[in-house]
Amino acid sequence: MKRCVRTGVIAAMALTMTGPVAAQDKPGFKDTPMLPGGQWRVHDADRPAPIVVTPAATPGGAPADAVVLFDGRSLDAWKPDRIAWPIANGALTIPSRAKSGGENNLVSKQSFGDVQMHLEFRSPNPPTKSSQDRGNSGIWFMQRYEVQILDGSQNPTYADGTVGAVYGWKPPLVNAARKPGEWQTYDIVFERPRFAADGSLVRPAYVTALLNGVLVQNHQAMLGTTIWRKVASYTAHADAAPIQLQDHDSPVSFRNIWVRPLPAAAIAQDLGKDGK
Ligand code: MG
Repeated sequence: MKRCVRTGVIAAMALTMTGPVAAQDKPGFKDTPMLPGGQWRVHDADRPAPIVVTPAATPGGAPADAVVLFDGRSLDAWKPDRIAWPIANGALTIPSRAKSGGENNLVSKQSFGDVQMHLEFRSPNPPTKSSQDRGNSGIWFMQRYEVQILDGSQNPTYADGTVGAVYGWKPPLVNAARKPGEWQTYDIVFERPRFAADGSLVRPAYVTALLNGVLVQNHQAMLGTTIWRKVASYTAHADAAPIQLQDHDSPVSFRNIWVRPLPAAAIAQDLGKDGK
């Protein structure tokens, strides 16, 4: 709404018309209808202003409140399964199995639940192999729930395994892949699942993902712990767990990785059956 009336102005008018009223210089209203939930009025003058987060100076950079997981220089935020992923020219690259000796995922030292995540990746160029063996990696939230990384450019594979997929469940809405050798961006919001005390699922995990600025998953419910050739299901776990970058025996590179742990208020709340 363009028109903005300040409570202070209204208070001054009220003073003129009806006599003294309490001084009020906060923008907003106290005579508007209550919103669902019964805590705040529409345009409530007393509703707390959002806290300030200073965004990065350049698009894609880490905002002031982010946990930087990789800034181009240090692997300190991570522990590899076997050997360190080498850093060159500000980028991490998955080492060959000949060097690592076996599956060599990168696991964050810090645990996370609900997060916003940004990372950039680059598929190997020139590409080798095909389908799931070409540029395969992945972001495994809570070491369980994979958003797929793959070379999605002219690389036919099954739809629920291409880049942007919730692996084994939901293909991306579109294929927004760049060519191998080009840096690509992922911006993801992950909402962890909720479990009851008896371990039963109360609310599934949800994921929203933009690949290269293009929406590929929109608040998509996840089916459970990612698994190959089977139907995923949930097993109860802690509220926080590491983020894992997958080694799938392909030299995918990464840079500019940061997350923002999200407060409870960030979790989407559905309206009740009566719309409130
Ligand atoms: Mg993968």
